[in-house]
Formats: sequence, structure tokens, C-alpha cells
Amino acid sequence: MAKIFCVANQKGGVGKTTTTVNLAAGLAKIGQRVLVVDLDPQGNATMGSGIDKRALTASVYDVLLESTTVAEARQRAEASGYDVLGANRELAGAEVELVELERREQRLKAALAPITKDYDFILIDCPPSLSMLTLNGLCSAHGVVVPMQCEYFALEGLTDLVNTIKQIHANLNADLQIIGLLRVMFDPRITLQQQVSEQLKAHFGEKVFDTVIPRNVRLAEAPSYGMPGVVFDGASKGAQAFIDFAKEMVQRVETMR
Ligand code: ADP
Ligand code: MG
Repeated sequence: MAKIFCVANQKGGVGKTTTTVNLAAGLAKIGQRVLVVDLDPQGNATMGSGIDKRALTASVYDVLLESTTVAEARQRAEASGYDVLGANRELAGAEVELVELERREQRLKAALAPITKDYDFILIDCPPSLSMLTLNGLCSAHGVVVPMQCEYFALEGLTDLVNTIKQIHANLNADLQIIGLLRVMFDPRITLQQQVSEQLKAHFGEKVFDTVIPRNVRLAEAPSYGMPGVVFDGASKGAQAFIDFAKEMVQRVETMR
């Protein structure tokens, strides 16, 4: 049975999608069966896995509105080594359409249930908001991975996310926990980043992953080739860090069982 994780942070541009596709590719490399669910209407995780979001015959939107199943809508990202439930702009409409429906925040969870046996990991790339889409992600998941840059306002932004996760844990999904905070786009030469990194460890202790993802241009270049950095240039520092992170995730999951 798959462990299901949301990659979430309500800020945009913090590295959620990069984390989702590279963790997925890293996990695939070490033999794990992985599904990526793109829950962002921008469809960056879809494109970054090598699947054309404009050419989807069925997407996560159709799944949320129950006009198709995950088994029908998922596609193989051949080069990346994992499956993708894709998204495109259509998904922006789901936000409004879901509000009218019953069990509106549990739709993704219900849709994933029949296929969790097919995977070891399901990774959900969330949009940069605490919206109905993110709520669907958080209601489906066992845990949340929070990528963050070690910048001055990083801790402040975390409070909202931590409170939202606490509320969902209390009311909608008792399984939900923060699995860990992942320091991304890290540059050790910047003193402020080191300081914030230390603060994070002081505040969150064990919840801060040991692996640190460095700022690495190969990770930023990879999406334009329709590949995760781990596949595009496996020897790069960024790719190596994500492979380490995949191993760390496998270990964390073992301690959850
Ligand atoms: P989000 O999904 O949170 O909006 P992205 O993963 O799309 O964030 O990352 C935002 C931008 O930063 C993208 O252009 C991405 O290529 C770049 N980026 C992310 N992680 C790194 C990294 N470790 N090194 C260099 N660039 C990165
Ligand atoms: Mg994104």
C-alpha cells in the first residue's frame, strides 16, 4: 500500500514542483513504484515529467469531478520512471465546481483508494495556496513534505501551514502529519541562510530533513527538457541531493509503519 505525501507550501516559487518530480525520479531510481499527482492548474509537474499538459485526454480535473478514474487518466512518464496524473488550466475551474458538491474535500482521497496498491509512494504537488485543491491533497495524505528556502520570512510563512495542518488533522484526516521540512535552493555561502537553517533545526528538531538541496542550475534547466533534474543530469549536485533525499524518505517511511 502506497504512502501518500503532499508537497505543500502556500508560497509560490519555493521549490514544490522541483521537489515533487525529483523526489519521484529519485525514488524510482531506487526501485520504488511512484505516482505523481499534479494538483496545480499550472501543470508544471506534468510538463516537468515529460507529459504535454495540452494533450491530456483526461486529467486530475476529470478525476475530481468523477467523470473518469485514476486508472484511466494516469500516464507513464517513460524517461522519468514513474506514473503521472496530469493537470492543466482546466483544473482552475474545479476550485469553484467542487464547492457545490458533496464530500468536496474527500474527492481525491476516494479516487486514489483503488490504486494505492499499485504504488509504494504517491506524491501530490500542491498549488501555492491553501485552497480546495490543497485541502483535497491534505485530506488524502499520510504526511506533508514542506520545501522551504532559508530566508528571513520563511518561519513566518510556516505558521499558517502548520495551523492548517493541525486543523485538518483534528477535523478531517487524523493520519496527517508533517513528515519534514526540506531545505531547498540552499547556498551555504550566504550567512543568513545558515542562520535560518539553524533556527529551523532549533524550532522543529527532528522534523528537519538531514538532506539539504543546494541551489543548482541543472535542476532549474531540466524542466525545459521535460525531465526531472535527476534524469536530466544524474551526476549533478542537485540530482545527487535528491537521490539522497529519496533514500531518507524511504527510511522515514519505515519508521512510520
Ligand atoms: P513551486 O512549485 O513551489 O512554485 P518550483 O519548483 O517551480 O517552485 O521552483 C521555482 C523556480 O526555482 C523554478 O524555476 C525552479 O526551476 C527553480 N528551482 C527550484 N529548486 C531549485 C534549486 N535547488 N536550484 C536551482 N533552481 C531551483
Ligand atoms: Mg509548482
